[in-house]
Amino acid sequence: MRVYERAMASQLNGHGFLLLANGRAALRRLGCDPDGTLGHPITSVRILCRSGRVLVEHPLEGAVAMLRHQLLNVLLRGAPDHLVHYNHQFVRFDWHRDRARAVCFQNGQAHEADAFIAADGVRSSCRLSLGCGAMTNPGRVKEIVAHVRQPLVAAELGHRFLKVLDPSGGLAAGLVPLGDDRLVWFVQFDSERFIAPQPSEVGAFLEEHFRGFPAVVRHVLGATDPARAHVWHTVDEEPATRWSKGNVALAGDAAHPLLPFTSQGVNAALEDAVLLSGLLLDCRDAADLPDLLTAYERQRRPSLQGCVEAGRQMARAFVQPSSSRFQMPLMA
Ligand SMILES: Cc1cc2nc3c(=O)[nH]c(=O)nc-3n(C[C@H](O)[C@H](O)[C@H](O)COP(=O)(O)OP(=O)(O)OC[C@H]3O[C@@H](n4cnc5c(N)ncnc54)[C@H](O)[C@@H]3O)c2cc1C
Repeated sequence: MRVYERAMASQLNGHGFLLLANGRAALRRLGCDPDGTLGHPITSVRILCRSGRVLVEHPLEGAVAMLRHQLLNVLLRGAPDHLVHYNHQFVRFDWHRDRARAVCFQNGQAHEADAFIAADGVRSSCRLSLGCGAMTNPGRVKEIVAHVRQPLVAAELGHRFLKVLDPSGGLAAGLVPLGDDRLVWFVQFDSERFIAPQPSEVGAFLEEHFRGFPAVVRHVLGATDPARAHVWHTVDEEPATRWSKGNVALAGDAAHPLLPFTSQGVNAALEDAVLLSGLLLDCRDAADLPDLLTAYERQRRPSLQGCVEAGRQMARAFVQPSSSRFQMPLMA
């Protein structure tokens, strides 16, 4: 098996996320993190109003917070040398009738294989090249995310995910401790009310729109170098019209981009990997691949369609809050 990645090894950073109970179970089934030590346990979610009043606290079972590179390291631990071929940007598949013979990269190389799993993320070129639907519809709610060293705040948060909402809707901030002196923060905003900032405007955007938020939020945002924050232009799309063609399958965000509200992006991608790896390991005849990959889609599509709907419902409730019921801000 080989993995092809467009980035250089040194460019694989990103910030952080919650690995939920389903994602952790998937990771264990992949043989990674068998003793469950990865990440920092998050045992509750506290939701505050912008004024600082506590609205609700939900217990959370089986969730951990981590940085993206920590998860990548665990996935690669024990892998053979040269498993990942960096600096390989997908360009196209080379087809022979209804079977992809090889994958071709921008660097001029082409590699043959019996089966291909295309997991190139939310703006998947593979999905486009298979003709399984474009991913052009921008999400109305956007996010800015970063991580920062803040020992006192991280200690104060302990094992709690803190989310602060503007009661008039369309603006929220979240703080997630990482178990050392760092934490991940994110802000969510309705881009129809607040114009998404260019990277150079992030600092001013945070200062202007979060000045009425509790001191802890202002402190953390103010302590972050805005140049290190990432403006997340979300995608609000249906899952791919089909998830495979011949011996090529789509997985993760490429098959089913999710709005960030569910916190299921990473978790669902790991679940796809478990199912696909089992099917491929059991496959004895390459001629069976199209049916196996169709079975993968049949099994996964219903729950992912549910995640897409749940994400949209959470986004609607976020831009236009209509009740005093404060939902869990993720799909656990
Ligand atoms: C750099 C980065 C940082 C992220 N940080 C966070 C975060 O802080 N918090 C969070 O909740 N989610 C984050 N995400 C999204 C989250 O990780 C995904 O929703 C989740 O991991 C789904 O996994 P995936 O493998 O389907 O897609 P991704 O994790 O997006 O992985 C797709 C991979 O494919 C590579 N790729 C894309 N196009 C090509 C191409 N043409 N040829 C070759 N390779 C290609 C990308 O470089 C990337 O490594 C991040 C994603 C990226 C790419």
